[in-house]
Amino acid sequence: MLMRMSTLFLRTLRDDPSDAEVPSHRLLVRAGYIRRAAPGIYSWLPLGLKVLRKVEAIIREEMDAIGAQEVSFPALLPREPYEATGRWTEYGDGIFRLKDRKDADYLLGPTHEEMFTLLVKDLYGSYKDLPLSLYQIQTKYRDEARPRAGLLRGREFTMKDSYSFDVDDAGLEASYVRHREAYVRIFDRLGFEYVIVKATSGAMGGSRSEEFLATAAVGEDTYVRCTKCDYAANVEAVRVRAPEPVPYADAPAAHAEDTPDTPTIQTLVDHLNEKYPREDRPWAAGDTLKIVLVVLKHPDGTREPLAIGVPGDREVDQRRLEGQLEPIEVEPMDAAEMAKHPSLVKGYIGPGVLGEESESGIRYVVDPRVVDGSRWVSGANISGQHVMDLVAGRDFAADGIIEAADVRDGDACPNCEEGALESARGIEMGHVFQLGRKYADALGLQVLDENGKLVTVTMGSYGVGVTRAVAAIAENSLDEIGLCWPRDVAPADIHVVAAGKDAAVFAAAEELVAKLVDAGLDVLYDDRTGKVSPGVKFKDAELIGVPTIVTVGRGVADGTIEAKDRRTGERTELPIDGAVAALV
Ligand code: ATP
Ligand code: MG
Ligand code: MG
Ligand code: MG
Repeated sequence: MLMRMSTLFLRTLRDDPSDAEVPSHRLLVRAGYIRRAAPGIYSWLPLGLKVLRKVEAIIREEMDAIGAQEVSFPALLPREPYEATGRWTEYGDGIFRLKDRKDADYLLGPTHEEMFTLLVKDLYGSYKDLPLSLYQIQTKYRDEARPRAGLLRGREFTMKDSYSFDVDDAGLEASYVRHREAYVRIFDRLGFEYVIVKATSGAMGGSRSEEFLATAAVGEDTYVRCTKCDYAANVEAVRVRAPEPVPYADAPAAHAEDTPDTPTIQTLVDHLNEKYPREDRPWAAGDTLKIVLVVLKHPDGTREPLAIGVPGDREVDQRRLEGQLEPIEVEPMDAAEMAKHPSLVKGYIGPGVLGEESESGIRYVVDPRVVDGSRWVSGANISGQHVMDLVAGRDFAADGIIEAADVRDGDACPNCEEGALESARGIEMGHVFQLGRKYADALGLQVLDENGKLVTVTMGSYGVGVTRAVAAIAENSLDEIGLCWPRDVAPADIHVVAAGKDAAVFAAAEELVAKLVDAGLDVLYDDRTGKVSPGVKFKDAELIGVPTIVTVGRGVADGTIEAKDRRTGERTELPIDGAVAALV
């Protein structure tokens, strides 16, 4: 396969796109792999599509190897199956919904458990038909609250999703293990560093669940790993004994309303990301929030103690707060006042307080993970909105108890009890989980067992973010000058640069390129003439990131060319004649 730079549909850019937050996003746009079509929605250009197809091919091979069979579902789906499992409602704003001309409801599929379950129900009816694993590589739609980092969190993205169907738990376990092993092979081949962590199964329900996280500082997941053994878990999943709720004796009545439906720190983190998106990277467990304790002085003379959370190091704009609350006066809570409201103080600020005194009163910097034992009040501590709600006489709901609370760095490992836990960031690349009978129950997927009795099928569901993988590989391998692909997924194996004006140089380059293509290599050939200087060509080559850059230039007179390893920068002079053998 040969791509010529002279005709390739490509314009590399000198400047970073203004909306790019992470290096992979900047470089994928600058090097001409993708273009933004709308927030979280991207078009793929020829170079990008090459990488995407290679990633897909690796995933496809490994899925086929475990006997999973490829199918393809539509993205446009009817409401009813999602209604039957409750997800039409559960997904809330997270899905794209639309209506047809007859006013019937449709959605763009965020994931396909329902559809696979129904398809198997349609066609299969006996235990003899199982086990079965089906997969697809297909476009998914999620109206993410905060699409970010280019392909890393898109609103349209490609996922490989598979589903396993078994008669019993042992069968499910075997299917799960087969998928997990295939994922290890896939991620090894994709060539980035990753960890496998215990995970919650989130909205999917079910039991055993693990995530494959690419280790990356730009990742949105925080996980803990043990310094001694191989224990690793997403902090979402580390459910330490739920702390005793703190009584809210001094708090207004609305505070006492507790709805512990979503008892993870993720609730808080999501809330911050939605209400207070940060420029550099999203909020994650472990970031600091400043809690400011204040007293509201109502016109009728009553005084109301309140804790207000302020993300990061922002100063509280007292005047703004007062302006909003007119005619209520707001004053910082002093130590004497705090002593009168111990439950408020303890309730909002757990035992792991990093307290600090400030001129305006008493201020606390709290690590959200240590807001142990407190109920976090949605939209309240953080935005001050609850104050407005209170003023307007509205109730506001508590989000529940933050459970991941007492995992800190340094804590003893719950597995080996010898090592300590340390935390790190990762990008969720894949997710395997045992769904159990949740979907089969909801949609009536049953088969006849050996005794002619109807039994409900048990399922697993396994996802890989394909477009996300492209970005994660880029993120994992790039350097200051550009992308730097592992060979297995690079848009080409060799990037040949004809450097010079000489006809002899171009003739030699053409000849070499033809031989490389004959040898089965994918070649990107910079055959541009005219005003494109060798300097520009080298810059482009480094930006595009094909793993081997071959320069055909002055050396041609002596029968040599130069091969440069894009990653190490190491240069090797090769005789033109033996070059192909050395480069294959
Ligand atoms: P996340 O925690 O990052 O939101 P998820 O847990 O919601 O991901 P799953 O439902 O487990 O995602 O989907 C399977 C895989 O699809 C994920 O492991 C991830 O690689 C990929 N994926 C999920 N959401 C997106 C997205 N918005 N953009 C790109 N890839 C995604
Ligand atoms: Mg998600
Ligand atoms: Mg997740
Ligand atoms: Mg997941």
